[in-house]
Amino acid sequence: MDMVDVLVIGAGPAGLNAALYAARKELTVKVVTTDIGGQMLLTNEIENYLGFPSISGFELADKMEAHVKQYPVEFVYAGVKSLVKEGDGTFTAHLDDGGELRGKACIVTAGKHSRTLDIPGEKEYTGRGVSYCATCDGPFYRKKTVAIVGGGDSAVQAAIELAKLCPTVYLLVRSRIRAQEILVKRMKELENVKVYMGYTPEEVKGDKKVQGLVIKNKADGKTEELSVDGVFVEAGGIPNNSYLPSDVKVNSLGEIMTNKEGETNVDGLFAAGDVTDCRNKQVIIAAGEGAAAALAAHEYLLRSGL
Ligand SMILES: Cc1cc2nc3c(=O)[nH]c(=O)nc-3n(C[C@H](O)[C@H](O)[C@H](O)COP(=O)(O)OP(=O)(O)OC[C@H]3O[C@@H](n4cnc5c(N)ncnc54)[C@H](O)[C@@H]3O)c2cc1C
Repeated sequence: MDMVDVLVIGAGPAGLNAALYAARKELTVKVVTTDIGGQMLLTNEIENYLGFPSISGFELADKMEAHVKQYPVEFVYAGVKSLVKEGDGTFTAHLDDGGELRGKACIVTAGKHSRTLDIPGEKEYTGRGVSYCATCDGPFYRKKTVAIVGGGDSAVQAAIELAKLCPTVYLLVRSRIRAQEILVKRMKELENVKVYMGYTPEEVKGDKKVQGLVIKNKADGKTEELSVDGVFVEAGGIPNNSYLPSDVKVNSLGEIMTNKEGETNVDGLFAAGDVTDCRNKQVIIAAGEGAAAALAAHEYLLRSGL
């Protein structure tokens, strides 16, 4: 089995930029990933990636991929099931297709996936009115009434997008809105977005398809049912970290703890982007962190003599 200098896990903006920077340091690089683009593929329009005033997530992912492929970076399409640090300081990734990959250093950039609500009816109606991607499924709800659950960037962005298609959009926020000011301002200008602040979702109701969402006012405990055709869960993410060695330090959310260089507590193991404890989960931040981690991995390899 070939040993590369840097093994990158994931090919979202963090992984792609890590691969680019590592390859430009003339290191040998393999990227193991389940897709190319990561969460950018779920994003209709990105307006805050410097140099691109407005670009679709697909197009930005394509451009990043083409840029990285100008360098001799090898892509392996598989999921990492476990990552092991060997006695000699190198890393072995065990893959879900039975394969193995080895690297002298490893950069984890596996991002995150959607949090579920864990309420009655959610599982039952997933794909029949419950969705985890407004950008992907929004067009199916043209002229229908929908509810969005969440208070972050993706929830507010979903409200703005769906308000173009749907006569009424309910936004259910548990405690406070944590989205970018510019998005909140834009949403507030939309008359058909109705914000329910301090409410929690209790049950998805329906008959073959979603027909309603029971919600509870946290202040007085009273419940009511919103008549909706769709429920979009935009309640944040869970880091993709199931394969990590148990001695890698993570915070209470399961995010890998790193310093500014992307170093973890394990020598030779670096991390970048949404899988880490970085506060703001954004494309440009993930890409920047990927670059920093690759540069740190380069220094580590020089220092360790591996
Ligand atoms: C709906 C939505 C809208 C958004 N809008 C914006 C926006 O307008 N502007 C903005 O800046 N940000 C936006 N974001 C956030 C942005 O997309 C993320 O911050 C960014 O993609 C994080 O990049 P990443 O590389 O860290 O992780 P990800 O993009 O999550 O990529 C993770 C990569 O790891 C791979 N992977 C995961 N697990 C494994 C495994 N076990 N083995 C191998 N590979 C694995 C995945 O296939 C993927 O390639 C949005 C996010 C969403 C969901």
